[in-house]
Amino acid sequence: MPVWLRDLGCETPQETVVNAFVGYASRIYRIPSKRADAAWKALVVHSRPPLCLRSGTIFPMEGKRWIVTLTGASRDYPPADDAGFLEFARSLRSQALYESIVAAEPLSAVHHYRRMENRLRHYERVARWPEGIAVVGDAVCGFNPVYGQGMTIAAIDAQLLDTHLREAAGKHAIGHAFQREVAAARRAAWTLSTGVDYRYDKTQGPKRAWHMRVMQRYMDHVVALAAERGDVYRRLLHVMHMLAPPFSLLAPDIATRIALRSMLGTTSR
Ligand SMILES: Cc1cc2nc3c(=O)[nH]c(=O)nc-3n(C[C@H](O)[C@H](O)[C@H](O)COP(=O)(O)OP(=O)(O)OC[C@H]3O[C@@H](n4cnc5c(N)ncnc54)[C@H](O)[C@@H]3O)c2cc1C
Repeated sequence: MPVWLRDLGCETPQETVVNAFVGYASRIYRIPSKRADAAWKALVVHSRPPLCLRSGTIFPMEGKRWIVTLTGASRDYPPADDAGFLEFARSLRSQALYESIVAAEPLSAVHHYRRMENRLRHYERVARWPEGIAVVGDAVCGFNPVYGQGMTIAAIDAQLLDTHLREAAGKHAIGHAFQREVAAARRAAWTLSTGVDYRYDKTQGPKRAWHMRVMQRYMDHVVALAAERGDVYRRLLHVMHMLAPPFSLLAPDIATRIALRSMLGTTSR
């Protein structure tokens, strides 16, 4: 689209890129018939920058299989070979993931992916917007995929486009106002995914405003609290998946617990 805009004699959009140099590797396993710890359905081991840049997940799939994903930030990428994959799993903050897969049967090779920067193109700031052009989805903004936001945002854009096309039918061509709504629709998701990525000290991107740094500190506590309390984790997932607005994490019951943790200097496990 930037090339097409340039060819039309328009200004190309400014770009904001936030890159935490994250990479992940995934492998499918058969769920062992006898499991040491069968109490959980899915397992998430968080990173804790700056002490640990590594995280991992196990999610069940159809056909009695697990998809196991290991993630590293600041170029601390998980290896794609058998031994390296297991060694990386062993180095996580909890041994639960390693212990679950060490004797499990792998059903696939290890596949890895490393292009995980957040990239936002500011089409809403292009001064002379050619009417009749609409940019949606990843063409506007690609998120670090580990947060699982891109498909939801693309679907929200599709709904916005539908509304605009119905309203514009026969009256005017779709234009700049649409791009402003598309920009607003991804603001919270962008703040969340870049806010989490900025927790890593090698992350490259524009200097953050003070309120972003405060929010990041707050989010560190939310993530730590979520590891201890199912209700907080559920609310964090609702925000991550755009079912609830980010300010729902400022609800008094969460904010009070976090204030208490800060005062007592409680660290996350
Ligand atoms: C490794 C990885 C993991 C991800 N995991 C998740 C996840 O777990 N959850 C989640 O929500 N999101 C995830 N995402 C993000 C998600 O895939 C994207 O946000 C989403 O697919 C964007 O949809 P889109 O329609 O905008 O773009 P795309 O899905 O990329 O579709 C664009 C289409 O346009 C076609 N195209 C391109 N140029 C032209 C052209 N000139 N002419 C005609 N056709 C063209 C392309 O071939 C493509 O089919 C992940 C992304 C990656 C890379």
